[in-house]
Amino acid sequence: MAVLPIVTHPDPRLEQVCEPVHQFDDTLRQLAADMLETMYDAKGRGLAAPQVGVLKRLFVMDIRWKDGAPEPVVVINPSIVDQSPATAVGVEACLSIPGRTFKVPRPIWVDMHWTSLSGIAQNWRLHGIGAVCVLHELDHLNGRLITETGTEE
Ligand code: ZN
Repeated sequence: MAVLPIVTHPDPRLEQVCEPVHQFDDTLRQLAADMLETMYDAKGRGLAAPQVGVLKRLFVMDIRWKDGAPEPVVVINPSIVDQSPATAVGVEACLSIPGRTFKVPRPIWVDMHWTSLSGIAQNWRLHGIGAVCVLHELDHLNGRLITETGTEE
């Protein structure tokens, strides 16, 4: 495993729509392992592939590790299939935009379809910080940053 350099704003790689993952192979497993190591090293809760310069539709997340209960997840080819009509505004930071925070409105819950690292289709309903995390990372896969979707604090 290796800690990868994190791409920072403004870098054009952060503004690209990423390509779906088709190959579930050792290269993908190595990338996912390196992304998790990079995320923990940078003290983040989520990291998307374009943030390490790879324009593929995957991200890693762990919303529990700061509470002492690590729960690493590798999310591949995600899509949001339903979401709450109601939104809430939360404060978000981004490893690619160091030292700045933004208020961003997000749905309160989302239903996400995705594929695991072993190629198994998954469905999750996420609430609160889980919803915020996956929506933030999914925005990265579509080239959108909180500089665009939020208001700087
Ligand atoms: Zn981010």
